[in-house]
Amino acid sequence: MVSVLPTEEGNVAVVVRVRPQNQQEREGSRHAVVQVISDSMLVFDPEEPRLSGVFTGFRGHDAPKRKGKDLKFVFDQVFGESATQEEVFQHTTKEILDGVLNGYNCSVFAYGATGAGKTYTMLGSEKSPGIMYLTMVELYKRIEARKEEKSCEVLISYQEVYNEQIHDLLEPKGPLAIREDPEKGVVVQGLSFHQPKSAEQLLEMLASGNRNRTQHPTDANATSSRSHAVFQIFVKQQDRVVGITQDLQVAKMSLIDLAGSERASTTNTKGERLREGANINRSLLALINVINALADAKSRKSHIPYRDSKLTRLLKDSLGGNCRTIMIAAISPSALAYEDTYNTLKYANRAK
Ligand code: ADP
Ligand code: MG
Repeated sequence: MVSVLPTEEGNVAVVVRVRPQNQQEREGSRHAVVQVISDSMLVFDPEEPRLSGVFTGFRGHDAPKRKGKDLKFVFDQVFGESATQEEVFQHTTKEILDGVLNGYNCSVFAYGATGAGKTYTMLGSEKSPGIMYLTMVELYKRIEARKEEKSCEVLISYQEVYNEQIHDLLEPKGPLAIREDPEKGVVVQGLSFHQPKSAEQLLEMLASGNRNRTQHPTDANATSSRSHAVFQIFVKQQDRVVGITQDLQVAKMSLIDLAGSERASTTNTKGERLREGANINRSLLALINVINALADAKSRKSHIPYRDSKLTRLLKDSLGGNCRTIMIAAISPSALAYEDTYNTLKYANRAK
């Protein structure tokens, strides 16, 4: 597999992960609508009578290439259903860890509908831990390898953005206010920081933090995450030089399990649920707008609309500039998730 490292400053690498079909989907006995063709290409099959009208909606750079009746999508990397947690980590986050150790803020997003595999990819299970855990293990390994030259401190925080409000997930409290500090960058006031003593303790913290997330069962089978979960790793480094006080270098890596991207209108929505949906759509739209504005800004100075949502305000110093960003779009290959998959591929295509 090739490197997905965003080589130029401000670049976004976009990868797609296709999860295996679950039992319900397999028993549905309808064909899968996504085929992974290579490690950078997938084909989305529009042979679905119910939705055949949808495919007239493409415009400009949004339009994927058509191959016969299929829609061909190309990304920096495509992971099929057999891809392991370790493989996904190796070819995404691991490649930007050097950036963090060199003092640059980095961010990794998992985008997709409820049930598409975002939390599995980022958090994972005890048996197969995801990117958050694998990142920390790799980070400790690298720090250990160069401890003679550098002293290093690692702190973590875990928060959620729900309905445009920030809450601490490790010491449940909030809403917390955002402040911009000229030296420290974006600061969330009152957020707790932690130093896990072991890999096991980290896993426990992540799992308990995740249980504190705002969730609602949208139907009998699925628990829909209505908040964006933001896990941040702060790396403070100093050269070890005898007798001289060295500058402290601080960088942070943000690993984000975004709220389910399904349209609010597809579930039974009224009142509070509707407001949640509107806020989720707003922040996901703000995120893509920031990413696109940053891409444009390379050629001409343009306004970056960070202020359009709490999520983009929170990540203002982790997107653009010297930051490296990876977007992981999670999808189900099942015909049952047809519409969500199509919308996710379109969003991911726009982020390129
Ligand atoms: P989301 O967070 O996007 O709502 P989840 O990560 O909770 O979705 O995934 C939904 C279900 O599918 C979970 O039971 C999860 O364990 C399973 N799953 C997701 N991705 C994979 C995968 N790559 N391999 C095996 N099981 C997966
Ligand atoms: Mg989830």
